[in-house]
This record gives sequence, C-alpha cells and structure tokens, in this order.
Amino acid sequence: MTVTLYQWFILIALIGEFSVNAISGLLNLRAMKAGIPEEMRDTVDHETYTTAQRYARDRLRLENLSNLFELGLFLLFWSLGGFAVLDRFISTFALSPVVSGMVFVGSLVIAGHLLQLPFSYYGTFVIEERYGFNRSTRRTFLLDRIKGLLFLGLFGGMVLAGVFQLFRVSGSDAWWHAWMAVTLFFLFMQYITPTWIMPWFLSFEPLPDGELKEAILRYSSSSGYPLSGIYQVDGSRRSGKANAFFTGFGKNRRVALFDTLIQKHDTAEIVAVLAHEVGHFKHRHILKRMVLSIVHLGVLLFLFQLFVTDADLAAAFGMERTTLHGGLVFFGLLMTPLNMLLSPAMHALSRRYEFQADNFAAKTVNDPESLARALKKLSRDTLSNLTPHPIYVTLNYSHPPVTERIRAIRAAVAPEAVPKGHGS
Ligand SMILES: [Zn+2]
Repeated sequence: MTVTLYQWFILIALIGEFSVNAISGLLNLRAMKAGIPEEMRDTVDHETYTTAQRYARDRLRLENLSNLFELGLFLLFWSLGGFAVLDRFISTFALSPVVSGMVFVGSLVIAGHLLQLPFSYYGTFVIEERYGFNRSTRRTFLLDRIKGLLFLGLFGGMVLAGVFQLFRVSGSDAWWHAWMAVTLFFLFMQYITPTWIMPWFLSFEPLPDGELKEAILRYSSSSGYPLSGIYQVDGSRRSGKANAFFTGFGKNRRVALFDTLIQKHDTAEIVAVLAHEVGHFKHRHILKRMVLSIVHLGVLLFLFQLFVTDADLAAAFGMERTTLHGGLVFFGLLMTPLNMLLSPAMHALSRRYEFQADNFAAKTVNDPESLARALKKLSRDTLSNLTPHPIYVTLNYSHPPVTERIRAIRAAVAPEAVPKGHGS
C-alpha cells in the first residue's frame, strides 16, 4: 500500500495539531511553579492558589486524553476504510443524493458526539464536581446534550441541505450562491438566538427593580448607551461560575447577567462587568467579528469548490467515488493546518478586544478599581490558572490572563504612570 500526498499531508497535519496541543499543555503545567502573582495577592490565598493549579492540571489531563482518544479512533476508522463502508451502506437505501449526504455527515457528527460523551460526563461530574463547580444534575446534562443535538440536526441539517443542493445545481457559481445563502441564514440565526433558542437552555427573567437595576440605568444614561432588556439568567442550575453576556442584535438584543454573578459581586462590580460588555458594543466588536466570520466562510466555500470534486482527495480516504458529502468531510480535514494558523490569530484579536472593552469600562465607570476587583474575584472563584504559559495563551486563550488585564486597567486610568510608546 502506498501513501499518497494527500494522506501524508493530512496525517502529518493531524498528528502535528495533536502534538502542538500536547506540548503547549506540558509547558503550561511547567509554568505553574511560579508563586502567586503580585496583582492577585490580596484576593487569592495560598490554598486557593494550589487548588487552582490542581484544577488546571486535572482539566489539562482530561483534554489530552480526549484528544488522544479522538485522534486514535479517527486514524483507526480511516485506515479501516470506514468512510467508504459508511458511504456504501447509506447508498443501499437509495435515498436522494442530498439526503444521503445529510445522513453521511449526520452519522459522523452523532458518532463524534457519542464518543466525546464519556469525557464531557467525566469533566462535569468528576472534575467540576470535585472543585465544587458542578450544579448540573444528570438529567439536565442529558437533556442539554439531546437538545443541543436536535438543534444542531435541525439548523445544521438545513445549512447542509442548502449547500449540497446549491453545489449540485449552480455549477461554478455554487460557492458564492452558497455563501449568500448561508450568510443570510447565519444572520437570521443571530437574530433569533436570544429569544428562540437560548430559552431552551437558560431561563431569562427581567432584572427586578432595585438598587442594582438603578445603578445599571444610571450607568446607562451617563455612558450614553441605552440598556434595555436586562435579564437575569439561571446559570446556577448548571455551574457555580459567574458570567455576563450580550446576545442578538436590533430589538432582540439582550444583556444577560448570571444569577451567580449577582450573588457573588457587589453593585459596583456588576456595573463594571456590564460596562465591559458595553465596551464590546461601543467598539463594534460584535459586528467586526460577524464580518470576519462571513469573510472566512466565503474563503472556505471558494476553496471547498476547488477541492470537493478532487478524486485523489476522495481516494485518500478510501472512497470509490467523489461525493459532495465525502468532499465536505475530507475538505474539513485538509484545512487542519489553515485552522491551526487562523485559530491563534482569532484568539489574538479576541484578546485585543477584551483589552479594549476593559479600557472602555475603566474609563466610564465611577470607580475603575471595581472592574479590577470584579476580575480578581471572578478569577479566584473560577480557579483560573494565574500563570499560564505564553504559548498556551497564544493557542487557547480568548481572554488575556487576569494579571495582564488588571495591569492594563490600572494603566488606562493612570496614563501618566506609563511611559509613552509602551502601550500595546
Ligand atoms: Zn469581554
């Protein structure tokens, strides 16, 4: 048996991806020896610090194990000609090409979910439980998985059917027809997510009148940002971790504060967290991110059109014929190196946005230190790793490490303390 160029390429990419993750994880473990960072000494005691290190170690171990398992099973499936077997089996039902394609992709997605299930179960009921974060019952956990799969099946199925159909009928225009169609669908989904989808997972209740709401409205009028639709969500049903987020756009926009955030933080801190979210909005981060993902989608669909009918690519996975559904899966694998480059770039952009949002919040709230306080408490209460390795941060962090954020917040409100030209 000879190994083709495509096979070498994808094999090396997958093993490379696994190794890069494993090595960065190892570096992250070794970076933990350092003591409690200066910025955190007033908030984190020695015991919490060592617990946070154990937590990071446990999670990293699970992540590595899960990645290794996934890679091993995938290579086994590939080498045993699993893709061709699945394709032949589905074709015995004589379904239409689009439906066969959906069944093909759907069975791989469901198999992937089922194989990941033991790891996410262990993550939730053993690790999160051990550190006191898990509030989810087995019933909620299972229902979440089922609901998630149903939504994925429904909406993913619609996108898949549309893309397959357009690639069947639109010839060389297919990629941009599909691009327009998927973009419209994506925008529609963004619009309906807060009102139609999220309530299946979280219950939203308007924030009751009182001191907190008044403080939020006061901030809203002083910062010139209309805040309507402030909700409290029952994050505590699943996890003890606190959070806040903005979702949707237009009149469907919502600000959601986790009940856990409200319980554990004082009013000034909650307003500061909210101000950070407003900062994302003022800097148009949500819009920019949306534009970027639409451009990304266009590039991917263009490349997809180039590779989907490539007989050598199909043959690399043991397929006897080229199909749209096989092409989609194999194209995804072929893009592994590109994703390995794009993902750190997106994370870097995201961290930059977080700094900008912090900066906005620090400059618009009455007491900038309340933001630093909120971040310190959030970081302590989620047992976040205080000394992540820079390479691990580059590869995985969508938010900057908390110590960097605190330093940046303090520098933002005391600009004279920072020499010019040293800011980033
Ligand atoms: Zn943010």
